[in-house]
This record gives sequence, structure tokens and C-alpha cells, in this order.
Amino acid sequence: MAGSPWDRLGSDPPQPFPAAMLNVTNRCNLSCAHCFIYTDGNPNDPAGDLDDAALLAEVERVRDRHGLYGMLWMGGEPMLRWRLLERGVRLFSRNVITTNGTVPLRDFGPAVTYVVSLDGPEDLNDAVRGEGVYRRVRRNLLALPESFSSTVQLQCVVTRQNQARVSELVEAFVDTPVDGIAFTFHVPQQGERSELAWRDVEEREVAVDLVLELKERYPRFVWNHRRALALMRPGAARVVTAHCPALATVLPLYVERGRFTNPRCCYGNHADCDRCGAWVVFAHAAKLPGPWDEIVPPTDPPGPLAHWFAAAGARLP
Ligand code: SF4
Ligand code: SF4
Repeated sequence: MAGSPWDRLGSDPPQPFPAAMLNVTNRCNLSCAHCFIYTDGNPNDPAGDLDDAALLAEVERVRDRHGLYGMLWMGGEPMLRWRLLERGVRLFSRNVITTNGTVPLRDFGPAVTYVVSLDGPEDLNDAVRGEGVYRRVRRNLLALPESFSSTVQLQCVVTRQNQARVSELVEAFVDTPVDGIAFTFHVPQQGERSELAWRDVEEREVAVDLVLELKERYPRFVWNHRRALALMRPGAARVVTAHCPALATVLPLYVERGRFTNPRCCYGNHADCDRCGAWVVFAHAAKLPGPWDEIVPPTDPPGPLAHWFAAAGARLP
């Protein structure tokens, strides 16, 4: 990707980021219908994983170059390389491991949050993720020992297809060892007209309202911030995505033919910004000053992300 319009790995001086997202493997044991990893046009090759030592050396180099303090470990299925993650999480003060939950979780300590993906109640989840996946994930989560010190969070991709039934997922897990759930909204590729995608943010608003209702009913278990959800409404959403905060806060990294490359954003090179419903985009917008403040005024004083942003001299696109 060197020389591409969004190349940040070769930029001089290096652009600071608080966190990066890294696909540690292109392999996965599932093949979900909405997976963007293998979408045509993404700079991702199903071969070409780096071995542990080479990958960790490159992670350290990029960490030091861009001043990273957090890492989002992703895949493919990152827990297929859990020995690599066991070493990698020691390089950062905050770590998120996004997993499909079918591989047993390991206690990597309190600096790690597991984000376990489920896409709705059993029938809907398994229609997208594969037969029996929901039960395997649930069994793994219910088997976590009380002493498990990493945080465990569910993540549900809300789609036009599952929007009316996401409450069932909350009800199924609210009384389990799971610490909470976050709803992210389907990010379509440009031109996508699938049954998962809303036509536009206007059509998506009903789904945002349903998650807001869940937030009111389960304020501690549902981790979406009220302001982040308010920013997803039609009047604000395009203002946020036109100045996508994730482009300034998360450095996306793929491993391609044995080296790190830098796609445009965490959702690849061809995601549709106008319909983007990514958790990270709206969660970070809720925490940062931006042109959306006039539409949905801030509710909290500036936190660590806003302080980092100001200290680093970072700018929204
Ligand atoms: S678990 Fe994740 S990486 Fe694997 S197929 Fe599903 S969406 Fe893609
Ligand atoms: S698709 Fe979403 S995350 Fe990617 S650049 Fe657009 S708004 Fe940002």
C-alpha cells in the first residue's frame, strides 16, 4: 500500500495514533456471510501470515514509530494464534482481542478485553455464522472460571435483518459471566444492496432507536454510550462519517505477502462511509470535540481520548 492515498506507514513525520488494529492471521475457522475480510478488493491475501517473531518485531517497530498504547488484535480468527497473542498483549497497556468465541478464551490478565461476536439469537446468528456456532460460543462463555481476569464483552453487528430481535441476545446473556454487550451497526461496502444493509441512515434510524431502548432497560450491560447512539441519527451521522474520527484514532494494519500494509480504514478499502455504523466511529466521536458538537452537544467532560487528541495535535479528516 506504500504510496496509496491513505498510506500512513511510510509517512514522514509519522502520524501519531493511540491505537492500531492488526489482523494477526488471515485464517478463520468460520465463513460468515457479512465478513469483509475476504471481500474482493481488500488488500488481504489468505496466505502470507508472518511467523510470531517477525510479526512481534514489526508490531514493536510500528508501536514505537506511531506512539501506540493500545492494540486491537483481529483476524481472521486471532485466537488461532493464541501463543502469539499471549506475548503480544504484553507490548501494550490496553488490548482488545476480537474473536468469534468458538476457540476457548485464555486469561491474559486485566489489560485485555475480549470482544466476542454474536449476531443475534441462535437461529439468526447461525444463519450468518454457521450451524452450531451460537451454542459453541455460549458453552465457552459459561465455562469461564470466576477468577477469569480479562474483560469479556459481546459484540453484535446489528443489521436490517436482525434489528428487531437483538433484545433476545441481551436477555440470553445478561445473567452470565459476560461483562457487557456493545452493538455495532453493519458497515456495507460501496454499492451493497444485501438483506443486511439499510438503504441509508434514515432507514437505519429504527435500529438505533431499538438499541437506545435496550440501553435504557439495561444501562450497565449495554455499553453503547447514549451520545454515540444519538450521533447515529440522520441529522448527525453523515457529519460524523465525513470527518471519521477512527481515521485519526486507529491505525489499521493488514499482513500481506509477509509484510504490514495499511488499508484505508478498519473496514477495508471500499466501505461505504455514508452508511457506516461502526462502533469505533461513533464511540470516538462521542468522546472527541468535532463539528457534530452543535448537533448533539457533549454530555461528559473531556476524557483520556480527548486529552490524547489535544496533546498529540491530532486532527479530524
Ligand atoms: S469470524 Fe470474523 S473473520 Fe471469521 S469469517 Fe466470521 S466475520 Fe470473518
Ligand atoms: S467506512 Fe466507517 S470507519 Fe471506514 S473511513 Fe468510512 S466512516 Fe470511517
